[in-house]
Amino acid sequence: MRYCFGVDIGGTTVKLGLFKFDGEVLEKWEIKTRTENEGANILPDVAAAIKERMAQHELPKEDVLGVGVGIPAPVMETGIVKATANLGWGYKEVKHELEELLEIEVKVGNDANVAALGEMWKGGGLGHRNMIMVTLGTGVGGGVITNGHIMVGGHGAGGEIGHICVNYDETEKCGCGSRGCLEQYASATGIARLARKRLAKNEDATVLREKNINAISAKTVFDAVKEGDKVACEIAEEFGQYLGYALANLAVIVDPEIIVIGGGVSRAGEILLDYVTKPFMERVFFANKECGFALATLGNDAGIFGAAKLVLK
Ligand SMILES: [Zn+2]
Repeated sequence: MRYCFGVDIGGTTVKLGLFKFDGEVLEKWEIKTRTENEGANILPDVAAAIKERMAQHELPKEDVLGVGVGIPAPVMETGIVKATANLGWGYKEVKHELEELLEIEVKVGNDANVAALGEMWKGGGLGHRNMIMVTLGTGVGGGVITNGHIMVGGHGAGGEIGHICVNYDETEKCGCGSRGCLEQYASATGIARLARKRLAKNEDATVLREKNINAISAKTVFDAVKEGDKVACEIAEEFGQYLGYALANLAVIVDPEIIVIGGGVSRAGEILLDYVTKPFMERVFFANKECGFALATLGNDAGIFGAAKLVLK
């Protein structure tokens, strides 16, 4: 029997999983991400956690095919990271350093791209080889898989769907410094922003007004949609149009078999897909119309699954 490890490094915790060759997860656990001292402890901590499990299960090195790692930063094909926003690292040769510590082969990828690979392997994209994944959380993340492989790009930044410009006239800035990014309309914070703007437009009756305007979230909007609230439905339509048109544009390049939508906002369920697929189908190029839509199913585990898959290929 052969095994591999999937590791998902986040700003506060590192998630780890021990996988069997066929993708069965035998064990998963977490350790703290120690970001102090420019994150100098992170990789040694990961290596120690893996060695400890190998000793516990009496796994010889020869039985471990490799260790896959997802990182919240652009990652080059070579496993090199140039800078991170929340790990404390500057330039870091992640693959090389971890291989030195473990003496096992290591593969490294961007966390959102790796999560997309996980969803294709064992989640919402199961059975497909060409897929776009979009993660609607605080921001909008993304990953593109073509012919089973992550589209990494020339600078490790392939698949950053959240920063496609969908509104040339936007005056407010996105977190990235640009203006009119998809993230400003389709993330949880983006949907709340659309809601506040819609409420300020006129005095139309809506259950959303019963709440403190600053307490309105993507969840309160979609809960109101489910109650049939007209204004909430308009906000959902506006969100769906931004995301649906952006995905139709991407479909021309990727020609996906399936588009998988994940992240906190996707907990609204199937109704969210309805609001996205309608504008998508209105604008998508005829040859891309057979593309399907699905919700992500792996939740926070997508990262460790995708990291394991990096190794298994
Ligand atoms: Zn942006």
